[in-house]
Amino acid sequence: MAKFVFVTGGVVSALGKGIASASLGNLLKARGLNVILQKFDPYLNVDPGTMSPFQHGEVFVLEDGAECDLDLGHYERFTQTNLDQNNNLTAGRVYETILAKERKGEYLGRTVQVIPHVTDEIKRRIQLPADNDPDVDVVITEIGGTVGDIESLPFLEAIRQFRLEQDMQDTASVHLTLVPYIETAGEIKTKPTQHSVRELRSIGIQPDFLLCRATHSIGEEARRKIALFCNLPTEHVFDAQDADSIYQVPCNLNDQEFDRLLCQKLGIETEEPDLTEWKHMVQVILNPPERVRIAIVGKYIELKDAYKSISESFIHAGIPNHAGVEQVWVDSETLEGDEVGDRKLDEVFNGCHGILVPGGFGDRGIQGKVNAIRYAREKKIPFLGICLGLQCALIEIGRDLVGLDMAGSAEFDVSTPHPVIHLMEDQKGIANMGGTMRLGAYPCVLKEGSRAADLYGVLEISERHRHRYEVNNSYRERFEQAGVVFSGLSPDGQLVEVMEFPDHPFFLAVQFHPELKSRPRVAHPLFRGLVKAALVHQAPKQDSTVG
Ligand code: GLN
Repeated sequence: MAKFVFVTGGVVSALGKGIASASLGNLLKARGLNVILQKFDPYLNVDPGTMSPFQHGEVFVLEDGAECDLDLGHYERFTQTNLDQNNNLTAGRVYETILAKERKGEYLGRTVQVIPHVTDEIKRRIQLPADNDPDVDVVITEIGGTVGDIESLPFLEAIRQFRLEQDMQDTASVHLTLVPYIETAGEIKTKPTQHSVRELRSIGIQPDFLLCRATHSIGEEARRKIALFCNLPTEHVFDAQDADSIYQVPCNLNDQEFDRLLCQKLGIETEEPDLTEWKHMVQVILNPPERVRIAIVGKYIELKDAYKSISESFIHAGIPNHAGVEQVWVDSETLEGDEVGDRKLDEVFNGCHGILVPGGFGDRGIQGKVNAIRYAREKKIPFLGICLGLQCALIEIGRDLVGLDMAGSAEFDVSTPHPVIHLMEDQKGIANMGGTMRLGAYPCVLKEGSRAADLYGVLEISERHRHRYEVNNSYRERFEQAGVVFSGLSPDGQLVEVMEFPDHPFFLAVQFHPELKSRPRVAHPLFRGLVKAALVHQAPKQDSTVG
């Protein structure tokens, strides 16, 4: 019989509910439990796939191709589990399901209403992971948004009903709240937490545990006060102080026995978790013996969440390389214009030991990416291109080495005489934007003896995708003559998945998104390889300064 944990947030958004939920999942998994995490978002988009990264941060793609909230990335990274499309639900999806049923006449003439129809559908989805897999021990459901939002009400009402319908000890409510420190008064304030919990209780949900986000430790007295006013035991009020690394959060919660008390509340008996390896990993993250600097040339750099998985992948890749990776964010639009020559690029990339060009859509900043890639190629700086990064690499090489004047991509340059990147055949005729790209895991076969094969250590791999455009095969031969090696192809040989440039210390680009499969304990081979190459790249310079 599965147990159900609900994670809500109060006071303000962006408190780190996703990390808190993922950390909880991590601890329960370390106790030997089979845990599934899911995220319910109250907005009306059917999924975040059509939302701009500026608005919503990165779109995380699962094995099955579901386009999800970036918190699913944290869940997968913290629990080393692959989730599926059932683990992310939006209000839009709930309504889509209900309205489709209504059109089919499945409500038999009844009036379709928020209660019970919307709430019933939400309850069905809470239960679904446990229904689909009888071995699931705990389902953790995080509710997006902040308690008090109008749009989250149906979700909270569904949780209230769900809890009422279960045995008392089969569910738990965890509420994440903010305990601000008021600088001028020199003290922390518990009132916002009291209000937030009051709001939650007025909906009929008594939280069992409070995680208090704070810049300073909240201290014993405040814990007692919060417990008293919020109607729960003092030992169920936890300090969730800012951590230097998100990977420290499970350790901090475990130090306060959160996982033990949660299991006690849910009536689950397990062994104590062994966090030795995880703690060791956190130590390496916090005190890396070496450092290396890698530039990320993208267009969504104002919002770091837009490249969340890439940032995390660099942290993971630093661990086996015993290095901390400092990420330097470069707005590709600043690398455009007539005045951008090598002098400007020297300035921008001064002290960078590697360059990464991430995925993206549309024409903004393309020329800047192309300039950065040319610079990486010519100056022999380790380079990794991801999705649009691969497409830009071929545009650059097409123009500079193959002699394809004004080579471009049909995505943003319809009049190019050389569409080295063009729309995939099965994308032609698709009008809808949502969920219609080539999405999710597809196999790829690597070329024996290539750098990619060497990095992966195997010849058959599977990676996650999110794209509409691909390498135009009619140009493949000309690229090969210019020295490009297409070292990864779809099993039928028709789609380029990986390209590399052997006459370079590390120049590799991929059509898929390796960052979606990097895990803290299993860094992705491509990121690991890039960081390693970057360390080698910086070494001679270091020697000369030391010498
Ligand atoms: N815009 C490109 C395409 O659709 C690249 C997509 C990406 O980088 N994820 O093919």
